[in-house]
Amino acid sequence: MKERKHKAGYDPARYQKGNIAVLISYFGPHKGLFILDMLCALSVSAVDLLYPYISRRAMNELLPQSLYRTFFTVMGIITIAYIARACLYYVITYFGHQFGVRVEADIRQDLFDHIEDLSFEFYDQNRTGQLMSRITNDLFDITELAHHGPEDLLIASVTIVGALCVLSSIEWRLALIVALLVPLFLLTAFHFRRGMSKASRGVKQTMAGINTEIETSLSGIRTSKAFANEDIEKQRFSAANESFKTAKKSYYRQMGLFNASMEFFMSIMSVAVISAGGYFIMRGSMDFVDLITFSLYIGTFVNPIRKLANFAEVFASGFAGLSRFTELMRLNPGLKDAENAEELKRVDGALSIRNVHFAYPGEREEVLSGIDIEVAPGENIAIVGPSGGGKTTLCQLIPRFYDVGEGSIEIDGKDIRGLTQHSLRSNIGIVQQDVFLFADTIYENIRYGRRDAEPEEIYEAAKRAELFEDIAAMPDGFNTYVGERGTLLSGGQKQRISIARIFLKNPPVLILDEATSALDSITEAKIQKSFDELSKGRTTITIAHRLSTVKNADRIYLIRDGVITEQGSHRELIEAGGEYSRLVEASRLGE
Ligand code: ADP
Ligand code: MG
Repeated sequence: MKERKHKAGYDPARYQKGNIAVLISYFGPHKGLFILDMLCALSVSAVDLLYPYISRRAMNELLPQSLYRTFFTVMGIITIAYIARACLYYVITYFGHQFGVRVEADIRQDLFDHIEDLSFEFYDQNRTGQLMSRITNDLFDITELAHHGPEDLLIASVTIVGALCVLSSIEWRLALIVALLVPLFLLTAFHFRRGMSKASRGVKQTMAGINTEIETSLSGIRTSKAFANEDIEKQRFSAANESFKTAKKSYYRQMGLFNASMEFFMSIMSVAVISAGGYFIMRGSMDFVDLITFSLYIGTFVNPIRKLANFAEVFASGFAGLSRFTELMRLNPGLKDAENAEELKRVDGALSIRNVHFAYPGEREEVLSGIDIEVAPGENIAIVGPSGGGKTTLCQLIPRFYDVGEGSIEIDGKDIRGLTQHSLRSNIGIVQQDVFLFADTIYENIRYGRRDAEPEEIYEAAKRAELFEDIAAMPDGFNTYVGERGTLLSGGQKQRISIARIFLKNPPVLILDEATSALDSITEAKIQKSFDELSKGRTTITIAHRLSTVKNADRIYLIRDGVITEQGSHRELIEAGGEYSRLVEASRLGE
C-alpha cells in the first residue's frame, strides 16, 4: 500500500477566510492543471468565435473575386483549427476532470483528517449518517463547482461578449437587438433551471427516504416476520415508492419546461435576427452574407447560455456545500495537546483523581461532583453503583476524552493535561461492553491493538485471550472475515478479541467498563479468567454490574449521582452494612 505523504497539521487560519477563498486555496497545488484547463477553454471559445467571422470574410471577399485558391486554403485552415479544437476538448475533459478529482481528493482527505481529530464532544452532537452525507454529497457539489465553475463561467462569458463584439462590428443595430434578447434568454434559462434543481432536490430526498425505508425494513426483517407484518412493510414501502413517481414526474415537468424554453428562444432569436436583417437589406444597409454570418452567430449563443444557467445552479449548491464544509473545518479539534506537552513514557500506573467535577459540554448539570480516588501502581480497584451514576463518564476522563471541569487527574504524578494525548492513551487500555469490530479479518482486528505487532505476537495474544482454539476451528482461521457487526462471532468471542487487543497493546493501566455485562453468566465466568490474567501487573479499574466479579478488588468505590458514597474492601463494606451490603444481598437473592 502506498503511504500518504505526511501533511502539515491542521491550520485553523486557513478556514477563517471567506468560503470562496478557502476553495481557491485548494487550487494552489494543482495550478498547472487549472491553468492548462483555462487556456484550453479560452482557445476553444476563440475558435468558436473566429469561424463565422472568417467564413464571412471568405464569402464576402474571396468568392466574389474568384480567389478560389485562397478560399480553399482558408477552409483548410479552418478544418485544422477544428481538429485542434477537438484535441483541446479532449484536454479539457481529461485534464479538467483530473484537476477536479485532485481538488476533491484533497478536500475529502482534509475533511476526514479533521473530523477524525475532533473530540468526543463533537460526536455526542453529530450523527454518523449526517457526517457520511457531508463527506460524500457536499463534496460532490463542491467539486462540481471547483471544476466546472471557472471553466463554464469563462467559456460562456468570453463567447457571449466576443460574439456580441464581432456582431456589432458588422451591423451594430442588429447586434443591439441580439444584445437585448440575450439577457431575456438568460433570465428565462435561470428561472427554469432553478425549477429543475428544486425538483431534483425533491427527487434526491425521496430517494434518500426510500433507501432508509429499505434499510430499516431489511434490518428489522426478523422482527417483521415474527409479527407476521410483512404486508404492512410492503404497504409502507409502496407508499414511499409512489412518492418517488410523483417527485420524478415534477422533475421531468421542469426539465420539459427548461428544454422547451431554450428551444423557443433559440428559434425566436433566429426569427428576430432574420426579420430585422431582412429589413436592413430592404433598406440597403446590409447584404446577404452579413445576414448569414449573423445567423451563424446565433447558434454560438445557445451553449454559453445553457452553461451560465447551469453555473448558477452549480454555484448555489456548491456554495451551500462549501459553507457547510468550512463551518466544519472551522471547528476546533476541542481537546488539544498543550504547547509543551510531555511525551509520556511507559508509566508505573499510579493514578490520582483529585476532587474531580465534570459536566458534559453544553450541559449545566454536573455528572461528577468531587471525586477523589487514589490508586497505587498495580492495584485493582472496582467501581460499582446504579446506572447513570457517572461511572463510564469517570472512565472517559482518565484517557482525556473530555477535560475535567474542576480538580485534576494525574498519572504517575503528572497532570494528564500536560501530556500528549497519544502517549497518554498508549498507556491505557479500555474494554467496554460493546466491542467494535472493523469490517476486516480477525487477524487485523486483533492487530488493531498494536499495528506493528508480528504474527507470532498476535497468535500469542489470541492464546492468552483463550481465543486461539476458537479461531483455529473457523474455516479461514485468522483470515476469517468479520462483518461490520461481527455477526459471525458470539458475544464472548468478540469480547475475547478485545482482550487480545489489550494483551497486544500491553498498557500499564487497564479500564474494564462493564466488559462482561452483555454476556450470560456462564460465558462471563469462563471469560473472567482471561480478565484476571489481563489485569495481572496492571493498575486496573473494573466497573461491574455483577458484584461477584469485584469481590477481590483491593478497594471498591460506590458511586451514586456523581459522588462516592462508600469505599473500602468487600469485607469492610459488608461489615459497614451500607448500600453495598444491601446490593450484595439483593444480587444473592437474584441468583
Ligand atoms: P454509568 O456509567 O454510571 O451508568 P454514565 O457515566 O454513563 O453513568 O452517565 C452519567 C450521566 O451522564 C447520565 O445522566 C447520562 O445521561 C449522562 N451522560 C452520559 N453520556 C453523556 C453525553 N455524551 N452527553 C451528555 N450526557 C451524558
Ligand atoms: Mg456505564
